Amino acid sequence: RRRCLTVALRSKVSVTPTRILTKLKHECATPLPLLQQVANNMSSDMRAGLAAEAGPGPGLPMIPSYVENLPTGNEKGLFYALDLGGTNFRVLRVQLGGKDERVIATEFDQVSIPHQLMFATSQELFDFIASGLAKFASKEDGRFHISPGKKGEIGFTFSFPVKQASIDSGILIKWTKGFAVSGTAGRDVVACLNEAMERQGIDMRVSALVNDTVATLAGAEYWDNDVVVAVILGTGTNACYVEQISAIPKLQGHVSSSGKMIISTEWGAFSNGLPLTKIDREMDAASINPGEQIFEKTISGMYLGEIVRRVLLEMAEEGGLFGKSVPQKLSTPFILGTPDLCAMQQDSSGDLHAVGSLLYDKAGVESNLSERKTVLEVCETIVKRGGSLAGAGIVGILQKMEEDQRGLVFGNGKRSVVAIDGGLYENYPQYRAYLQDSVTELLGTEKSNNVVIEHTKDGSGIGAALLAASNSMYNQDL
Ligand code: BGC
Ligand code: MG
Repeated sequence: RRRCLTVALRSKVSVTPTRILTKLKHECATPLPLLQQVANNMSSDMRAGLAAEAGPGPGLPMIPSYVENLPTGNEKGLFYALDLGGTNFRVLRVQLGGKDERVIATEFDQVSIPHQLMFATSQELFDFIASGLAKFASKEDGRFHISPGKKGEIGFTFSFPVKQASIDSGILIKWTKGFAVSGTAGRDVVACLNEAMERQGIDMRVSALVNDTVATLAGAEYWDNDVVVAVILGTGTNACYVEQISAIPKLQGHVSSSGKMIISTEWGAFSNGLPLTKIDREMDAASINPGEQIFEKTISGMYLGEIVRRVLLEMAEEGGLFGKSVPQKLSTPFILGTPDLCAMQQDSSGDLHAVGSLLYDKAGVESNLSERKTVLEVCETIVKRGGSLAGAGIVGILQKMEEDQRGLVFGNGKRSVVAIDGGLYENYPQYRAYLQDSVTELLGTEKSNNVVIEHTKDGSGIGAALLAASNSMYNQDL
């Protein structure tokens, strides 16, 4: 009897967008205890990863960068940087003038990575990089000059997880951010670049291979010695920080002059305790790397728009949002980007005109005011979850550092800087505010007064060049 009753009741209650929204808000909520748990899990997954070898197993990858000394400011000469990110490829040159002159001149070229290259062969991808370098290096500019007889040296920023055994080599663990280039996994990416440079007739040397977070830390610390953590929040996400060699069991026996090393956490792979929904699981299952990079899929720029699209599609299909028929375009994966969410959230007009036209242009959706409000609430929910969790991740790192070395982060009068770069953080004010709120809430006023969260723009280019300089093969002659 009971069962019949339930069935009968259910068929009467139709699913409405409002009900879907209520459930979504509930499942994506990030109350303080949940954020605290996420921060704690981040700390303990960091510890587990420092003990275990990278790869499947407990904890985060926690990749040793072999960067043991940050740039001093004395670096001199002409250095190049190559930066392969998730969306853009940049080539850069920097003329460094040492302590007094610092950065004398910089110049860069940037192109967006052609979509087909993400599915190309390794050789095609590296040929693209090397030919970009060749074109750039051949441009004459009197501000840049290399000492006669010296080879051009490159800092190579490679924004994917790489297992390094030295500062100038590393094996690709896996692609992320939608890349599926064949033939690179398991190979030394510096060797891949060297081969491509040879094919282009370029005689230069990679002096440092670095993750984008590591380059950002080096670039930011060059101007501000209090920088101890760097975070990228762009297409993908990751964080790195300065660790004590003695706190890295998996590097036992490694000798470091400074006693320190930058560790790239690869926190995109984190998943412990995240508030996830059916929509998140469906998006993950449909991705090219199912089961991987769950934190990244919850907080980074590549995915926020896609999560919102999937929620809106469910609301349209099951709750009749946007009228009787489901707008066809709304079924196209990635048709809504994170910049679209951001643009909609800046609309403060009474009729949400901008929201309406964006929905129409991007997703072929005609909407009334109440539907637009619902769309904004969905954006708000997903962006709040993302920004708040990113903040909890940062607190997890600071907590771990402070636990190991009392006073390092929150010490009396101490100032600790977290340098953040990436398009998501840079361009999305609401996301940035949620991140900051979460950090402040978790740390409390007293501790959070010591922690400065700062946007560093383009630190990774200069940072890679600086690391090439500090690891220059000519340093021995100095
Ligand atoms: C990669 C990291 C990278 C981050 C930010 C992630 O997908 O795994 O290596 O630092 O994106 O670009
Ligand atoms: Mg980048």
